[in-house]
Amino acid sequence: MPFTAKVITTSEWGAAEPKNAPFKRTVPNYVIVHHTDNQNPPNDPSKGTIEGAKQFARNIQNGHMKQSWSDSGHNFLNTTGGFILEGRHGSLDAVEQGFCVQSAHAAQDQGKLANGNQSPGIENEGNFMTFQMGEKQWESLVELCASLCSSCNISPLNIKGHRDFSNTDCPGNWLYNQLPQLRKQVADQLGLKFTEEELKNSSQLVDLKFGSTGAEVIKLQKRLLDKGFNPGAIDGAFGENTEAAVKAFQRSAGLKSDGIAGIKTRTELGIA
Ligand SMILES: [Zn+2]
Repeated sequence: MPFTAKVITTSEWGAAEPKNAPFKRTVPNYVIVHHTDNQNPPNDPSKGTIEGAKQFARNIQNGHMKQSWSDSGHNFLNTTGGFILEGRHGSLDAVEQGFCVQSAHAAQDQGKLANGNQSPGIENEGNFMTFQMGEKQWESLVELCASLCSSCNISPLNIKGHRDFSNTDCPGNWLYNQLPQLRKQVADQLGLKFTEEELKNSSQLVDLKFGSTGAEVIKLQKRLLDKGFNPGAIDGAFGENTEAAVKAFQRSAGLKSDGIAGIKTRTELGIA
C-alpha cells in the first residue's frame, strides 16, 4: 500500500524556518502515539477547522522552538477535524521514502524502549486520559499509521505510546488502551493478521496482584530480587511472598503499600 494519508506540509501551514536543518535521516522501528494535552472539543485549539489546524501547528512549533528546540519535536500532528499536518521539516519526504528524520518527541527513560526519536511521532490534539477521540480524528490516525507502517515497513504491532519510551501519562489512558484496536485496524488495512494476544502487546498493563501468574510476574519477581526484596521462588506465581516483597518495596519507595504491582509500582521498579 502506498502512502495515502493526506498531509498538510510545513510550507502549506506556514512553518517558521527551523534551526540546524536538514535533520538527519533515520531508520524507524516504531510509530509513536502522543496527545497534545490540550482541551477537548468544544474548546479544542483547532476547533476542527483547517485554518485552526494550521494555526495550532504554528503555535506548537513556536512553543517547541521557544524551549530552544530546533523545530517542532514531533513528525505529524493529527487534529480534531482529522487534518494531518507535517511537524518537523522533512518528515513527509523522509517517510514517503521509507525513512524518518531525527526528532525530539520520545526521549528514553530508564527501563523503557529506546530510539523513539528516530521513529515518527504523532501528536493527537486533545487530552485522552478519559476523553474518547472523535471519529474523524480516529480515522485520520488509522490512515496515517497505515501509511507509515506501509511506506516505512514497520509492523503494526510496533505502534506504541509515548509512555513506552518515557515516564509520562502521554498519550492518556484511554488512547493508550486503544492501541490494540489501532493496531488491528491498521493491520486490516494492510491485509495482515495477528492474534488478540499479539495485538495486545505490552500496551495493556494489567495490575499484578495475589493470584496473578505468568511471564510478567517472573519479570516482577526478578526485579524485586535485584532490588533486595525477596519474593520467594522466581516461579511466575504471585503468592504471599511476592506480595510481601511488593509491599516492602512500596514502603521503601514511599508508595501506597497495597501489595498490588500496578503502573506506579512497576514504573518505580523500571519494568512498566
Ligand atoms: Zn507524548
